Amino acid sequence: MKIHEYQAKELFRRYAIPVPEGGVAATIDEALAVADGLPGYPLVVKAQIHAGGRGRGGGVQLVARREELRQRAGAILGMTLITPQTGPEGRLVRRVLVEQAADSGRELYLSLLVDRDSASIVIMAGAAGGMDIEKTAAIAPEKISRVQVNPLQGLQPHHIRQALSGLGLTPDAMKQWPALLAALYRLFVENDCLLLEINPLVITGAGSPLAVDAKMELDDNALFRHADLLQYRDIHEDDPLEARAREDNLKYIRLSGNVGVMVNGAGLAMASMDIIKKAGAAPANFLDVGGGASAEMVEKGFAIISGDPHVKGIFINIFGGILRCDVLASGIVAAVKRCGVAVPLLIRMEGTNVEQGRQILADAGLQLITAADMADAAAKVAEMVA
Ligand code: GDP
Ligand code: MN
Repeated sequence: MKIHEYQAKELFRRYAIPVPEGGVAATIDEALAVADGLPGYPLVVKAQIHAGGRGRGGGVQLVARREELRQRAGAILGMTLITPQTGPEGRLVRRVLVEQAADSGRELYLSLLVDRDSASIVIMAGAAGGMDIEKTAAIAPEKISRVQVNPLQGLQPHHIRQALSGLGLTPDAMKQWPALLAALYRLFVENDCLLLEINPLVITGAGSPLAVDAKMELDDNALFRHADLLQYRDIHEDDPLEARAREDNLKYIRLSGNVGVMVNGAGLAMASMDIIKKAGAAPANFLDVGGGASAEMVEKGFAIISGDPHVKGIFINIFGGILRCDVLASGIVAAVKRCGVAVPLLIRMEGTNVEQGRQILADAGLQLITAADMADAAAKVAEMVA
């Protein structure tokens, strides 16, 4: 789950990580009220959406006077902000963060992330932060240091020295950093983060670090132990189909391809996605209805896949174990009759009562494509969306 910049900064404050003074606003009047409570101008108005690159899209504006704030907040609130990360459809801006502008000092890059390959928490730090960080990462990756922290050992002084070594900090400025990094690391671990990024981390005129931006992503699988963080969910930013699947207790992740996939069991789901790829097509989603799924779950899953306009064909691959094939087949028939399907439907089924299941499908009078096995399914998937 991603959270907004203003929410991440709320968490930063709790951990004594320095952030600019400010507050969030949903209307122009609220924005003016926040501004009136701050020591003075210049301020910065920032669109709150779950995507970066806002500066490039015009979603971050410096304002020098109250009247200018009124205009800029008015322009940003309600705009559809398009950034390099939102895709061409953009995101509707419902809130802005109004805060004290940082004096433009040096802009550094700092992030922590879970790195599955090395089973560690990686700290990344770069001297050239700001809006060109992607370019730096692409053309001069050596300018960004990567330090692996073994989560069982935790953050050690040598990690901190290593992370800071390339930042060109003066010995005086260095003094504040161990505490800052320790606080960030604690915030990261205690809240089960997947990503915590500060870009830019500004070194102010006084030489102190200030988190001018804040991006955070929390691990959905750990949210059950963070009741306090659930309030940060913004359903407007969620994919509507993913939100619905969450309510239905289905493991569904939307992807960019056009073959809808419904499977029972995560392993079979991965195998199914592999054969789709191998056939030269791409899955539109991951969907695991669960090993012990009922016909009702199958119907719900089907409804979600059918709700994705990018889906040009649906591949159902079920192994009948706890869920018997005849029950499954009845569920599919009921779902197809209820939802209607506008796209080809390919079914591969194996396991308990498979013959009865196949009979039910054959008798249903629906336009279904059946596959005998995985290899056959692969060939037919390719045909289906060709
Ligand atoms: P992003 O584009 O979504 O990553 O949004 P940021 O919060 O990083 O803002 C984009 C850019 O605007 C930053 O890289 C800074 O260069 C600039 N910026 C943002 N806030 C301030 C501020 O308070 N003072 C100054 N001088 N620049 C800022
Ligand atoms: Mn940024």
